[in-house]
Amino acid sequence: HSDELRSLLLSRIRDVPDYPKPGVLFKDITPLLADPEAFGALTGVLAGLCRERGATKVVGLEARGFILAAPAAVQAGIGFVPVRKAGKLPGATLAQAYELEYGSAEIEIHAEDLTPEDRVLVIDDVLATGGTAEASLRLIRRSGAQVAGVAVLMELSFLPGRVRLEPALEGAPLDVL
Ligand code: AMP
Repeated sequence: HSDELRSLLLSRIRDVPDYPKPGVLFKDITPLLADPEAFGALTGVLAGLCRERGATKVVGLEARGFILAAPAAVQAGIGFVPVRKAGKLPGATLAQAYELEYGSAEIEIHAEDLTPEDRVLVIDDVLATGGTAEASLRLIRRSGAQVAGVAVLMELSFLPGRVRLEPALEGAPLDVL
């Protein structure tokens, strides 16, 4: 049952106040990852979402997005493509800069890993300001591929992440588990 599953998953996420700095409520997914029942259930849900959205590729966002996206891609029988912080990918990349609360950041993808035939589901653990997810959607569209949707485990609803992400979704669904 999906409500029971949700409670199981949420019960395995630890809220850590004032980490990594004062005022931040950090959502720690390591208890969930250490519990094979919860991690397995989450992987199954994400793989099901890949099929439901007709995804042909899964993009995981560095770093915790990798941990959730990779097993989901394997279970769904589709490829995994990492979006990394700038300077980590050795091949030809597409890069996208985006604004943070203080300063800016840049992420990259290997251009050849996505084709115009691909429908891409983006997976990450937490949607906070939405900046990273928004930038990743830009990268996917610039590669010529289509966006199947974005799936996150949690949304920090006191931050306007959903509002920031909305225009970049262009009608594609945002799933919060
Ligand atoms: P953002 O671009 O602001 O939506 O931030 C998203 C990225 O930062 C995600 O990859 C999250 O893993 C991480 N993140 C941001 N805020 C938190 C938080 N409060 N707890 C855990 N992870 C967070």
